[in-house]
Amino acid sequence: MEKIPYKIYLEEKEMPKAWYNVRADMKNKPAPLLNPATLQPMTAEELSGVFCEELVRQELDDSTAYIPIPDEIRDFYKMYRPSPLVRAYCLEKKLDTPARIYYKFEGNNTSGSHKLNSAIAQAYYAKKQGLRGVTTETGAGQWGTALSMACSYFDLDCRVYMVKVSYEQKPFRREVMRTYGASVTPSPSMETEVGKRILAAHPGTTGSLGCAISEAVEAASVREGYRYVLGSVLNQVLLHQSVIGLETKAALDKYDIRPDMIIGCAGGGSNLGGLISPFVGEKLRGEADYRLIAVEPASCPTLTRGKYAYDFCDTGMVCPLAKMYTLGSGFIPSSSHAGGLRYHGMNSTLSQLYADGVMEAVSVEQTSVFEAAQQFARIEGILPAPESSHAIRVAIDEALRCKETGEEKTIVFGLTGTGYFDMVAYAKYNDGEMQDFIPSDADIAAALSKLPEVE
Ligand SMILES: *Cc1c(COP(=O)(O)O)cnc(C)c1O
Repeated sequence: MEKIPYKIYLEEKEMPKAWYNVRADMKNKPAPLLNPATLQPMTAEELSGVFCEELVRQELDDSTAYIPIPDEIRDFYKMYRPSPLVRAYCLEKKLDTPARIYYKFEGNNTSGSHKLNSAIAQAYYAKKQGLRGVTTETGAGQWGTALSMACSYFDLDCRVYMVKVSYEQKPFRREVMRTYGASVTPSPSMETEVGKRILAAHPGTTGSLGCAISEAVEAASVREGYRYVLGSVLNQVLLHQSVIGLETKAALDKYDIRPDMIIGCAGGGSNLGGLISPFVGEKLRGEADYRLIAVEPASCPTLTRGKYAYDFCDTGMVCPLAKMYTLGSGFIPSSSHAGGLRYHGMNSTLSQLYADGVMEAVSVEQTSVFEAAQQFARIEGILPAPESSHAIRVAIDEALRCKETGEEKTIVFGLTGTGYFDMVAYAKYNDGEMQDFIPSDADIAAALSKLPEVE
């Protein structure tokens, strides 16, 4: 067999024509979203007040395995997809490991991450429904950037509530969004009732993702022709991100490569869910077996230390309840530098797969994550996002284990984005000032004691 190229590129015509909905192959379906007032499953009608209609259909669809990708979305995908699957030959050599390491690189677009894959889909369905605009929140800024790009492409208004601490610390991210035409408001703000309430209760707060979600939902509900969109956590987002896994599988199949393990970082679960979906499908249908590994920060250990229960998706408690692994909607993770992984909950499909033992999870500390990031940057030439570097850490650890045992395992991991806007974090690491924060059992128990009571 010919030597496997450094970068496996699919041809344009090999790009997926449909997203894969892993829920269709799950015997134990993820639990439904509940109305927080009645504790009954949210109906399509109720959800349509907040979300676009077609996206509601996708959210509630547990049975259609393949959902066609509209041509307009595929045309946009073609500007930056198919993304390469890269064989990390240099890293393998450096580690002196018999393992083969591949990464799927999603940082090749201006937003710098995989989030554009769902942003363009959500903007498309909003436009098709005849809406004027969308609202959303952004933490570290990747999602807001991706959505701004998608909205400008379809000429939609885009209002972003950005967690105040990021708004202040990441002025360049903010300006990218504004360049693409979005309006950006630091959250909590005085623009919404929930923002005013949170500011009154916590004067001087620098905000949180859960709080910005509450504001964005309210902002959509009081404006005619607006809906709220979300960049992670929901099943529709995981569905759109399946394009990552489908391309990865097609590229591996093209060269007859069988992965032993697939690794991804997990914030709300969308990139990991999208990456592993086709492989989960094979596993659930009994066609193949893989180790599937979620990597989360030790500062926000949702899967490894959280509880599988119904919880609020936001701090203001205006969103539906989701059954998921959660640290409690009141859990405020310490200020970690992987903003995209600081969410208290986890996508409900991934939560069910984890509960069923289909997927594993590990947590890693941020200094060891940045050590891996630096090592990777120096040898593979890509400056990785701190979030993505969680997956790098575990991929390197697994490759080093292979070195000890002599096993020639094939490792695939998701490199979700680039870290150019995270240089403050890199500076902290380079100056030896980065610290690890690990919540105590008491911190977690306190947040979990406030879970809503759902029978
Ligand atoms: C947002 C983000 C993540 C985490 O989000 P998921 O929904 O868990 O995928 C990971 N990496 C990057 C670069 C991100 O921007």
